[in-house]
Amino acid sequence: MVTPGRLRTGDQTLVREINLSVILSQLRERAPISRASLAEITGLNKTTVSSLVQALIDTKFVYENGVDTSGMGRPSVLLELNPSAGYVIAGEIGVDFVNMLCADFVGNVIWQKTERTRQDMGQQAILNRTLVLLHEASTACSGRCNDNLLGVALGVPGLINYSTGTLLFAPNLGWQDVPLRDIIARHFDGEIFIDNEANLSALAEHFFGPARSFNEVLFISAGVGLGGGIVRNGHIHRGASGFAGEFGHMTADPDGELCSCGNHGCWEMAASQSAVFQAIRKSIQNGRHSTLAEVIEQNEEELTIPLVVQAVKQGDQVALEALQQVGHYLGIGIASLVNAVNPDLIVFGGILSLAGEYLLPVIERELAARALQWNARATQIVIARYGSNACSMGGVATVVKSILEHPLTMIPQAG
Ligand SMILES: [Zn+2]
Repeated sequence: MVTPGRLRTGDQTLVREINLSVILSQLRERAPISRASLAEITGLNKTTVSSLVQALIDTKFVYENGVDTSGMGRPSVLLELNPSAGYVIAGEIGVDFVNMLCADFVGNVIWQKTERTRQDMGQQAILNRTLVLLHEASTACSGRCNDNLLGVALGVPGLINYSTGTLLFAPNLGWQDVPLRDIIARHFDGEIFIDNEANLSALAEHFFGPARSFNEVLFISAGVGLGGGIVRNGHIHRGASGFAGEFGHMTADPDGELCSCGNHGCWEMAASQSAVFQAIRKSIQNGRHSTLAEVIEQNEEELTIPLVVQAVKQGDQVALEALQQVGHYLGIGIASLVNAVNPDLIVFGGILSLAGEYLLPVIERELAARALQWNARATQIVIARYGSNACSMGGVATVVKSILEHPLTMIPQAG
């Protein structure tokens, strides 16, 4: 069913929005750049470019910054996106932490904070901590970046209903049907984006990180859980209901242990942070010597991937073998994904990427052995640029991208 009169048609406003979007995107790609060069690159006439640029200067999204005297003739004024056009608040509710940051219009982080949480605090307490951090972020940005909140974005490790901004199911948090967008909208005006953590992390790597110039990016996020995302031509591939990228719940062992999602033997059970810890525990129980034995005996919750990496650096064979074992299972799954997706770049992120120097060689070996050779040969694998800020930076990317793609929705004054 189509609601009469609701289809978008090609009026003057649409043309202006498309042209504003092109100008903003070119400024992001090529600044500093002159009006004349923008006209040349876009094919728009100089008067149109001047009018669009003026609207963006009036709304403070673009500013004049310097002159180019290198060419023949008159020096030309150079334009750039104005970092202080506004700020974005973006965060992540993780399984055992809440991360929050503020960034300016070009993605410079201006404030950030991470708090540890525990599942036994309960959902309401974690949501309250998140709201407190959102308010702290807003206070920290008060008086900066034109006092202009461009949008709020929040990532969560679960399935999202994008039309309502509801978290439908987060197995590792044990949450169900949480109307996150409504909860935040009671406190903040403007656009609010709720998205899956791995999708946002994938987008951050594409929008700001090493995958910027790649068209078919496979992002793997290995941490407490195992997920990922596919960024195709700059857009997250969401699938029919928005749930694509739940790679960790592909069945690896049909007779395996029960996973938090209800299935048995999911890939993430062999290829996540807890798999590393479990392998170390098992070796110690079998009488092997490890410097991590003390931590595990005293307080197992203190065990972290950085500690494991530190142990490996000091020659701990048990810690090294645990990483190699998990790298082996990661590699097996990634090889299958490479065959399914045929990416031009694999970005390996999540907390396990901190052990990338030990995992990557094993993953690459599995890729070479298992992915179809034509596929594997063309595929590079790199460590993600953003560690613990990946998801939040993806939130920043979502808001900025939305302004670049729909400038009149986000900056109506430019119309
Ligand atoms: Zn599962």
